[in-house]
Amino acid sequence: GGIAGTTAAETIRSQDSASSIVILTEESNRLYSRVLLPHYLRNENTLESLFLRTEGSYQEKNIQLITGERAIKIDTATKQVTTDKSSIFKYQKLLLATGGKVNRLVVPGSDLNEVVYLRTFEDAKKIRELISKSRQAAVLGGGFIGIDLVQSFVKNGLATTAIIREKAFWESVVGENSGKLLSQILENHGVKILTETVAEEFVGQERLEGIRLTGGTTVKADIAGVGIGIHLDIDYLKDSGLTVKKGVVTNEYLETTVPGVWAAGDLAEFYDPIVKKYHSLGNWTNSSSQGRIAALNMIGGKNIFTTAGMYSINIFDINFSFLGDPLGDENTESIERGSFAENKLARLLLKADTITGASLINLPADRNTLNSLIKSQTKITVSKEKLKDLSFDLHSLLA
Ligand SMILES: Cc1cc2nc3c(=O)[nH]c(=O)nc-3n(C[C@H](O)[C@H](O)[C@H](O)COP(=O)(O)OP(=O)(O)OC[C@H]3O[C@@H](n4cnc5c(N)ncnc54)[C@H](O)[C@@H]3O)c2cc1C
Repeated sequence: GGIAGTTAAETIRSQDSASSIVILTEESNRLYSRVLLPHYLRNENTLESLFLRTEGSYQEKNIQLITGERAIKIDTATKQVTTDKSSIFKYQKLLLATGGKVNRLVVPGSDLNEVVYLRTFEDAKKIRELISKSRQAAVLGGGFIGIDLVQSFVKNGLATTAIIREKAFWESVVGENSGKLLSQILENHGVKILTETVAEEFVGQERLEGIRLTGGTTVKADIAGVGIGIHLDIDYLKDSGLTVKKGVVTNEYLETTVPGVWAAGDLAEFYDPIVKKYHSLGNWTNSSSQGRIAALNMIGGKNIFTTAGMYSINIFDINFSFLGDPLGDENTESIERGSFAENKLARLLLKADTITGASLINLPADRNTLNSLIKSQTKITVSKEKLKDLSFDLHSLLA
């Protein structure tokens, strides 16, 4: 029922008016935007505006949406999906697009009501209600969701402390200097940052009062947002015969190792012919385009998924973009473009003289050019010194 599954169902229907299409989702809602959840927390969106489809739109497209029912078993031999309500769905073609679930922090006190996570519509509703009763907030985790929570608390006027295990925010994704720049941006907005520490206990009897950290310091908080990553909820795929590693493994056509079963979105660990490796890209645009490509292949097409991933967010009005494979691997070389002093930084990742990924801070002008360079796998023939220099126009590298 997420963006990958819904896009796939609608793509199939646009090409094939006859087949029966069922979307099965364990959540109780029709498609909504996860991307807008933080905006709802910041009072920039109403609850109703989070929905991306009307209730009637499924019926109009003759797509059966079944909510509040969870797949618990897939039998790829008999082509059946069994749910927690004991329903059995027979299929000819199956798309798996079940996304991820938040990792929960398990320490004493972590079941207090004010320890919150942000993944679903219901999570966002709960957080917004708690924000209205809170004055001090803490956020655990220095990734995307952690930063979204920090911004949401700050924009609601809560005194906010960010607690991260690493030396700086997103260090592994953006590099050391970009991580420092991000920390500076947050501090300029009044965020207190505690690094290289983790929560040992959520303190409070009836309700949360604070968080005790390694070393014994206690940070006062009425609400604690936890953003420590997601895991794929793949228990239901046990005994399905599918190859599951970090995600459900697919080829470049998004077909799994079992014929007749495709995977898309956050769940898929697909072969990416651009970076020449299997990986997952947990972002909205990728999930939507994978849903479309998988659907076209489910109805007989042979389309390779090639979109270079692009993920863009604003943190207190500073633009951050992530392109291609921004993490790289042991064979990628990293080049820093721009500088901390200029408040503009990019980390470019190169493999065999082509750019395979990049993270950009405050450099929206480079975004489309880099996306084209990654997609076209253009050989980079200029010196690294030139790439580092912001006055060098990357556009000149495109033939
Ligand atoms: C707070 C937040 C902010 C984000 N911001 C951005 C952003 O700014 N830009 C961006 O590009 N990306 C962002 N993302 C990431 C983006 O939302 C995800 O990459 C995208 O939603 C993944 O889509 P999906 O369809 O693969 O999975 P999901 O959206 O996770 O959908 C999976 C669906 O499967 C259902 N499901 C799961 N298990 C089962 C089961 N066993 N049986 C039946 N149904 C099941 C779920 O109920 C859900 O409906 C954000 C995510 C969050 C949580």
